[in-house]
Amino acid sequence: MRKISSVIMACAMCLSMAVVGTVAPQVAVQAEETAAVELKEAPKETPTLDKDFGYEWYLIQYPEYTANSENTKSWMEKITSIKVNDAEPYTKVDNKFLMKEDTFRANVSMVNITIGNKEFTKDTNKVVISAEGYKDLVLEVGKDYKTVAIHTKHTGGTATCTKKAVCEFCGEEYGEYASHNYGDKYESDGTYHWKKCQNEGCDATTEKEAHKGGEATTTKRAVCEVCGAEYGGLKQEDPKPADKTTEDKKDDTKPAEKPDKKTVKAKKVIVNKKCIVLKKGKKVKLKAKLKPANATEKVTFKSSNKKVAKVTKKGVVKAVKKGKCKITVKTASGKKAVVKVTVK
Ligand SMILES: [Zn+2]
Ligand SMILES: [Zn+2]
Ligand SMILES: [Zn+2]
Repeated sequence: MRKISSVIMACAMCLSMAVVGTVAPQVAVQAEETAAVELKEAPKETPTLDKDFGYEWYLIQYPEYTANSENTKSWMEKITSIKVNDAEPYTKVDNKFLMKEDTFRANVSMVNITIGNKEFTKDTNKVVISAEGYKDLVLEVGKDYKTVAIHTKHTGGTATCTKKAVCEFCGEEYGEYASHNYGDKYESDGTYHWKKCQNEGCDATTEKEAHKGGEATTTKRAVCEVCGAEYGGLKQEDPKPADKTTEDKKDDTKPAEKPDKKTVKAKKVIVNKKCIVLKKGKKVKLKAKLKPANATEKVTFKSSNKKVAKVTKKGVVKAVKKGKCKITVKTASGKKAVVKVTVK
């Protein structure tokens, strides 16, 4: 870098001497990309192309006396290689008459370049002239080798979001990147949503934006109206009403459970009568007691013959017709007493 910056201070001639042989063309191109060294423009005048008199060689000819002649000559002195249609480059020779088909000679005093006899076979042929410290000069040469234009308009190739289009003629990248393909799908985290480029090999994302909209309830978080992701916390409610409802539920279930659990079984059933005599159509009520006294079992009454005497759930016996039967007084756990009934 130090060498290059000092070179920039120096005069053009010194520059040419200093740069030749110290900086390879590829290094110079890289330097251009980092803007450390600015490559000079190749001559902007369009040369003519012809065959060199009766010889096989082609001649790239610049006008001899123009305001740009000196610049053109400086450039010609720095030419390192010439390529036609990407073929092996011509190499520089000093003596025109010892030229071979794959060599060139820059005749600075005549402002022309003699190149070997490779044919121009395509409709539009590419001639690339590289010179030390200069941008490549790219010429479009017709099949007749007489139609010559400087290639300035890049064409073809397809730009993507990660790579610019590559000119089909000169191989240089040009134009702008294609726009990213963000699609409809959002990516999200707990706070933000964003989109990611769908194109392969592209990591581009849109700017992160905070989730918005939607409403949290006590059981469901808010749903972002843009990306559909849940975010934030649940809605906080006054805790008292919630507690009451759960207590109410408990109260509903407890009473049903209590009697079962707290039933005290009887060890014995005692009925106030052991045998009764009734006239047809008469009633009498049996009273059943349980022991121990705190026993809470219910008792049932059952007649052995309902045609003789019936008994209600509460122990009321009704004489139906003449005969004998038994009323059994029984607890759920199986303790029982028997009352003999005679109907007269
Ligand atoms: Zn191009
Ligand atoms: Zn992309
Ligand atoms: Zn969102």
